[in-house]
Amino acid sequence: MSAPVISEVAEGSPADRAGLSVGDVLVTVNGLTPLDVIEYQQLVDGAVVDLVVRRPRSPLDRRVRIEKVEGEPLGVRVDSAVFDKIRTCDNHCEFCFIYQLPKGMRKSLYLKDDDYRLSFLYGNFTTLTRFTELDAERVITERLSPLYVSIHATDPEVRASMLRNQRGATSLRWLDVLLTEGIEVHGQVVVCPDVNDGDVLEQTLLDCLDRFGALSSVAVVPLGISAHSNEPNMRAHSTAEAAAVLDLVEAISDAGLRLHGRRAIFASDEYYLMSNRPARPLGYYADVDQLENGIGMAAAFLDEATTGSQLDGARHSGFFQAVDAAPPWGYRAERSALSSSRSTEPPTLLTGELGAPILLEALRRMDRTEIEVVAVENRFFGGTTGVTGLLTAADLSRAIRATDGDRRWVLPDVCLNEGMFLDGSTVDELPAAVEVVATTGAALRALLDQVPVSQGASR
Ligand code: SF4
Repeated sequence: MSAPVISEVAEGSPADRAGLSVGDVLVTVNGLTPLDVIEYQQLVDGAVVDLVVRRPRSPLDRRVRIEKVEGEPLGVRVDSAVFDKIRTCDNHCEFCFIYQLPKGMRKSLYLKDDDYRLSFLYGNFTTLTRFTELDAERVITERLSPLYVSIHATDPEVRASMLRNQRGATSLRWLDVLLTEGIEVHGQVVVCPDVNDGDVLEQTLLDCLDRFGALSSVAVVPLGISAHSNEPNMRAHSTAEAAAVLDLVEAISDAGLRLHGRRAIFASDEYYLMSNRPARPLGYYADVDQLENGIGMAAAFLDEATTGSQLDGARHSGFFQAVDAAPPWGYRAERSALSSSRSTEPPTLLTGELGAPILLEALRRMDRTEIEVVAVENRFFGGTTGVTGLLTAADLSRAIRATDGDRRWVLPDVCLNEGMFLDGSTVDELPAAVEVVATTGAALRALLDQVPVSQGASR
């Protein structure tokens, strides 16, 4: 088992005053070696924290006692969220996007996790097939809530077959337990045509209203297919199939609203785009609990772009909002934003093929249709991959080279993780200077507010 390693010390913090440094290993905290950052956070919360610290190249461990105000952050970041071992997924879903990645990408991208701790910490979805009695006890006693659960189908046979794991047939019993114990859970259903659409989807969503009626939200998202998929049974929805899924989801969502007095079941934005239907307004999405899963993201973006105000707390909720030992690197990293010296020049906005219609609608609502949008085709992943977050430097470079003249390029930060694209390149490696902005309607609005309206037609 490994122990937490300090990756950052806040100046003037209790840890700084006690002489802790980057690279120090926290061998024990109050006599225990924490398994993960959740346990670590509980251990350092008190007024007195006794540490055994191992410093690189120092022959002896040393004891450090830190006295601080109870609840005051220690002032360190540690290098990982899980110190024992991430629980990897033992399912083999036909629709898994990790199996559809091209070869040769960063090793961490191929990691399949199915760890309830990462669900609590980062909002990763877990199928609960590796969940145990002990895990349930910990989640319930420590109130590790909310959690995010992949449902896919409530029919045991269909679920086991989709996960290619017999435990998939029974692991939703843990969802019953969690909901009964008052744990907040958000669900997801990935719809694969001819597998869990139609009657299977209808039964699944009805079960989400009845047996799992306490679910806080359920996101229904379409299967994504890259050109690297080797699964002969997996295929994209046709427009008619997408519209049928949307009709079904909306009808059951309405029934849920009548039954429980709240709307909890949502189709993702992709379904509206695939069906050529307008996005629902923001008010439809209640608390926008699954924005990062594409639920109401278009509505939020359009609302922000037209009002200029950013939605509070919808994007980054959860545990890491409150702790100072937040180490998101390697799982879900903070994104970078760069500024520009060309702030009054009209920008050319780079986006994915699915992002383009939303961006164009935002510009229409802002009366800024003179601003050019370049919808970049994703050839790196290929297939039906159209979301902006999966654009790579290779595709962006091709799109930039295909255009004329010197432009002020602007790119949303959703494509970057720690300043890096999924293909491992950085913004500096693109063939032109590119400005990176936050992926919000408010950021777009702020950017365009500095650009005088030009009377000329769009390029
Ligand atoms: S559970 Fe998730 S990570 Fe595991 S195989 Fe299925 S889709 Fe992939």
